[in-house]
Amino acid sequence: MKLSPLTSSKDDTHSEISKLFGRKPPRYLSQLASAGINKIEDILWVFPYRFEVIPRLNSFQFASPASKFIGLGKVYHVEKKPQRGFKKVNLTNATIRVLDQFNNEQNTLDLQFFNLYPSQLTKIAEANILLFYGEVGLYNGRKQIVNPDIIATDPLPEEIEHFKGRSETLKPIYPTLNKVKPEQIKQVISLIPSEYWDQIPEMVPPHLLEKRQLLQYQKSLKILHGLSEATIEEKNKARETLIYFEFFMEQLKLLVRRSIIRNKKIKPITLSPDLIDRANMLFPFELTDDQKKVIHEIAVDLSKSFSMMRLVQGDVGSGKTAVAIAIAFLLARNGYQFAYMCPTESLAQQHMESFYEILEPLGIKCHLITGQLKGKRRADFLEKLKSGEISVAIGTHALIVDDVKFKNLGMTVIDEQHKFGVDQRLKLTAKSKTEHCLIMTATPIPRSLSLSFYGDLDLSIIKSMPSQRKGIKSRIVTSETFAPFLSFLKTRIEMGEQAFIVVPAIEESEAMDITNLNQSLETFTKYFPDLKISGLHGKMKSDEKSEVVKQFSQKEIQILIATSVVEVGINIPNASVMAVLNPERFGLSSLHQLRGRVGRGDRPGFFFMVVDKKISQDSLTRLKIIEETTDGFKIAESDLEIRGEGDLLGRDQSGVGHQRRIANIVEHSLSLEMAREDAIQLFETNQQFVKDTMAKYSNDPLVRLTI
Ligand code: ADP
Ligand code: MG
Repeated sequence: MKLSPLTSSKDDTHSEISKLFGRKPPRYLSQLASAGINKIEDILWVFPYRFEVIPRLNSFQFASPASKFIGLGKVYHVEKKPQRGFKKVNLTNATIRVLDQFNNEQNTLDLQFFNLYPSQLTKIAEANILLFYGEVGLYNGRKQIVNPDIIATDPLPEEIEHFKGRSETLKPIYPTLNKVKPEQIKQVISLIPSEYWDQIPEMVPPHLLEKRQLLQYQKSLKILHGLSEATIEEKNKARETLIYFEFFMEQLKLLVRRSIIRNKKIKPITLSPDLIDRANMLFPFELTDDQKKVIHEIAVDLSKSFSMMRLVQGDVGSGKTAVAIAIAFLLARNGYQFAYMCPTESLAQQHMESFYEILEPLGIKCHLITGQLKGKRRADFLEKLKSGEISVAIGTHALIVDDVKFKNLGMTVIDEQHKFGVDQRLKLTAKSKTEHCLIMTATPIPRSLSLSFYGDLDLSIIKSMPSQRKGIKSRIVTSETFAPFLSFLKTRIEMGEQAFIVVPAIEESEAMDITNLNQSLETFTKYFPDLKISGLHGKMKSDEKSEVVKQFSQKEIQILIATSVVEVGINIPNASVMAVLNPERFGLSSLHQLRGRVGRGDRPGFFFMVVDKKISQDSLTRLKIIEETTDGFKIAESDLEIRGEGDLLGRDQSGVGHQRRIANIVEHSLSLEMAREDAIQLFETNQQFVKDTMAKYSNDPLVRLTI
């Protein structure tokens, strides 16, 4: 049997647990597997949530009601009452009176069994001696134990001696996992050979454990499974150790990834200060200091001989796109192309317009590429991209397709990368020799989250907003304030402004969203029969969608009723009002994003959250956060606390953080900070150790490929 933790390679992991069982592994292993538990190491991270005190074996006179008891009894009377079970089997209730065998006294005790299967009945009733365990009760004044565990029938003398010599012990109680019962998990754990436990390798160097006053990894696992005696304090330490361990390994992984990128040498791109000054002055407005700072940071990155990996965070409307335009200009002037990928077609369209407006007059050719670009026009585009005639390609994931080839791509920008998978990002980046990659997000990411998910990236933050923005007022609208809300809406529209009404979109049921949307369309058309009101949702064909967006931007539509498809990047400066129906169905960060759609022009914006009577107090409290602050970071922190990290970032974020099993960035942020500090230090002083450790431990494809 090949079960050493040191040799557990990735290929035979699937059967690692089943090997414990020899020839006939139980069926529940497949349930474990679908819960992600294949390797022994995986099940070691399933911990008992409590321990039951198992008393020592004793004489019946010490069996006191309401406490647990282990006894040894001789069967002297059996009374059976057949039950008609609902299944085809016959079940039997049985009362078995036993005589105390601990020290030959004449005490008796009743063992009361309910619904025994025939095989169980035979085994118990035909036994001579029973070693049993359970909670003592009283029935008609007699001591009894209902459905005791039978530890052994007719135990061997050595076994009895063993139990007699034993003191109180602890029995781990495991959780139920994907319908696998606690007892079954316990069984798997108990089959792990002791050599395996003893060979669990230490990944964190001893000097760090000492510095943080933590325990060894192996010891911690043993303590938490009850295999090693420990005080409460030591148990807490063991837990702390494993939390630190998870963060530490995650940080090492990020550092290794980063160093992989840094070790690949590329040709630096040097931008002259004059040119940077010109880039800063491309716009009809003055860039904010934050925008200039980010452009500078990117210029410094480009001057290095390794690829840039930078994340730019800034609220909606903080001017990220303007930064991207400036960078595209700088690259084009140095003979490089530029690619910008957005999650939706309408976003790509809008960005295209912004780029075009600034860059085309300077002779820098920009082109849009989405799924709509087909046939001859597409062929033409591909040709011009390959020849370098087109400098800037803006599009959706249509950019990733293999035949989209560049002459000299200098940088890729991924907008709202959490809407893409990491593989998509890598595929696009791979189209350039420099592999410079800029990620932009309007979702503010709390520090703890970005450390753990984006620890391999450099961060730029645009905090300040362009000054002439008038700000947004946010209000919760209840049934009492609904009528005034409607008349406010009407006034604004009479002033020539426009409004969004957003209805909840639940991914699992698009159909329901659409009904929801259609109902709201009807309702609002009743309120405002004279206005032009249209709907927009994700299931519409993309040309229908762009037609609606176009009409809205040309003010032909006054009220747009939409699902959260409007969340990202629809830029209609004339829309000043947004009302979200059932806002409690959105995450706080989504609400914040939505709110960013209004108040973009030079007029103030108004954001309403329309709740109904059924809303819970908790939800209301959460919505108040939106009402009270426009600080995206504060909102993201609350969101993180309420919903957890997976939700905040959306799909498949590199899979790094998701591999953590007990560590949680909200509760254990301190531990994360320590682990990060230590990992960086270790990486600086002993890279080889880190790489060796990763080679043993990491499943990360990026890391494994390159070590
Ligand atoms: P983001 O991409 O961060 O949402 P944009 O770059 O699209 O933000 O900018 C939002 C709006 O603000 C755009 O209309 C843009 O022209 C304008 N804008 C950007 N930077 C500034 C600035 N420094 N001063 C004034 N307006 C700006
Ligand atoms: Mg933008």
